[in-house]
Amino acid sequence: MVACLTRPPRQDAMPDTARFGTHGRVLHVDLTSGAHHVEAVPEAVYRAFLAGYGLGAWLMWRHQPPGVDPLDPASRFAIVSGLLTGTKAPFSGRIQIVGKSPLTQTWADSNSGGSVAAHLRRAGYDALMVTGRAPEPSVLVVRGDEVLIEPAGDLWGQEIPEAFDTLKARYGGKRDVGVSAIGPAGERRARIASVMNDRYHAFGRQGFGAVYGSKHLKAVVVGGAGAVPIADPKRFAQLSKQIQADYRKSLGLIARFYVWLGKPKRWLGWLYRAFPKLGMKLRAPTAAMRQLWSRRGTTGAVALSIENGDAPVMNWKGTGAKDFPLSKRGYKLDGKEVDKLVVNKLSCGDCPMPCKGIVRVKSRGLNDVRRPDYETICGFGANLLNDDLGLVTACHDACNRLGIDAVSASATLGWVCEAVEQGLLTADDLDGVDLRWGDGEAALALTEKMGRREGCGAWLCDGVARAAAYIGRGTERFAVHVHGQEPAYHDPRFTSLMGVTYIADPTPGRHTAGSGSWNETFGVGFSLPKARDKAAVNVKWKGHAGKGEAQANHSNSHQVLNGLGLCMFTTLTGTLPWVDLVNALTGWGLTEAELLESGERIQNLRAAFNVREGLTPADFQPHPRLMGQGDGLLQAGPLKGVRVPLLEMRADYHRAMGWDGVSGRLSRARAEQLGVAGLLDGWLAEG
Ligand code: SF4
Repeated sequence: MVACLTRPPRQDAMPDTARFGTHGRVLHVDLTSGAHHVEAVPEAVYRAFLAGYGLGAWLMWRHQPPGVDPLDPASRFAIVSGLLTGTKAPFSGRIQIVGKSPLTQTWADSNSGGSVAAHLRRAGYDALMVTGRAPEPSVLVVRGDEVLIEPAGDLWGQEIPEAFDTLKARYGGKRDVGVSAIGPAGERRARIASVMNDRYHAFGRQGFGAVYGSKHLKAVVVGGAGAVPIADPKRFAQLSKQIQADYRKSLGLIARFYVWLGKPKRWLGWLYRAFPKLGMKLRAPTAAMRQLWSRRGTTGAVALSIENGDAPVMNWKGTGAKDFPLSKRGYKLDGKEVDKLVVNKLSCGDCPMPCKGIVRVKSRGLNDVRRPDYETICGFGANLLNDDLGLVTACHDACNRLGIDAVSASATLGWVCEAVEQGLLTADDLDGVDLRWGDGEAALALTEKMGRREGCGAWLCDGVARAAAYIGRGTERFAVHVHGQEPAYHDPRFTSLMGVTYIADPTPGRHTAGSGSWNETFGVGFSLPKARDKAAVNVKWKGHAGKGEAQANHSNSHQVLNGLGLCMFTTLTGTLPWVDLVNALTGWGLTEAELLESGERIQNLRAAFNVREGLTPADFQPHPRLMGQGDGLLQAGPLKGVRVPLLEMRADYHRAMGWDGVSGRLSRARAEQLGVAGLLDGWLAEG
């Protein structure tokens, strides 16, 4: 069975000194030669950049050859553990991946549920970096010191459920190994291909599935039996226990009222529309938020967001309240309706607020399907004017079975609907599928084609920008993307700081990249309250001027979260004692301000990657519809007449970060303050 036992390690590196919280070991595997070695990482790197995206950015900066195409064998990616992952700290059951995106040719990262990173830590590594291209379809197996590249010809072509069943039979279940694998879309290098972790969780965005496929890598399997050394185990356990207890507190009367109120009501559409008009923040008590989130996760926000304008409809040109009204259509996609399909709860692991689920849709013969969440329901639902939840779930299932990103896939279909509506695309272009607004069956047929790269799916599966460039006929006008990536379903006309994130973060179009928008609209507090004054992190919903500093603080703090390997929904449901956990784990004795500085370093290293790739802010242009320009100036609903000066707002953010507005480079002065001037030398804004 074993085709290629990799060569002995080139260097069996050990960390510089005894340490806590990190192993200081990164496993490098070259799939072309089959060689592997271990790189020792000094503790100073972790103190500066934490782990997760921070360690990942440091590794990519050091090892990725600049300018290399992400699908070239010489390109690299890394699966990285957050600092807290593998310690059983609450909300740390996450995996992170970093690399270069085949969709956007920019810095890429993704944060998913699953156990691969925890197993990696147990195997004695903080990260696994992969390069090369295996001579045949392969599975990379890491079990402690054992590193194998095994043939996977029999797995190639298998859809995700079948592939995971085969891998489980071969390598064991969740207790034994964590698994990260691709479906047919990744094998065929669809640029919107995802990677699925432990069967149900996705590295959805930016095309990591195509990166695996380009390396002939069907799956990564990791198992380990060790532990992460903890500096103060008693204190660490106390803190973890306290967090668990806080999240399980029973609710008082007022919180219970908010839970009731927080569940969308068909007759309250007028109130949901009033919030953005008046700029009233949608804030519920923390305890109520925790319970709501635990019950419904992101599905609880769907109907509300369609009505209040947060969720764009009809390829960003429609108005939810008018085209997909809550009372008649939006409620059909509400979390309450989704609840009826749920047969089991699902968690990322080590989570006191399990917010995901497994669903069954009898009418469509769907079993054991991950519950569709906010982005999928908005994308295949309201965006396409499709109110059939069974069909939305079927589209979601197709995405996960075949391994494509639901946001990019559904956004591309929104563009198809509009092109068909305008007579610029016909069923002849689409293998006989006549996709019109509201036709969920046709959307499902095209989703399947994208996932298999079949027929018209061959040009649709690379995302909306490439599809529009391929078809032409003026369809580029309404291909909504930022530098090749379709924005998530949160409208900058509703929450302007989300728009700034879409065009300012090194991962264009992403909504999970760190944003002050949750403060802007929900009044969500700052995760490191001792590091900044309230005035530097709190913004009003209405108005656009002077929000750059808050955006910078929130984006930097979000990178702390990614460095620690935590779930971002913790920030929506309260403040965790990050610095106490880090200090109990590592013994570093950091302050919140120092931790925030680490987040700023991570954000700068992510951004510097794009600078080194020759990209500048001018490459990241918002589509006019995101700014309320042209036909994006809505004529009805709560966002009627809203314009958003995203470019000015981004300039404000750049100033706050110390980034040059033209080159995107970090100023040397700030780089010196952060201690990264040497690392980024040659890529800084001088003077
Ligand atoms: S809150 Fe939800 S997304 Fe976050 S770790 Fe828990 S299960 Fe995963």
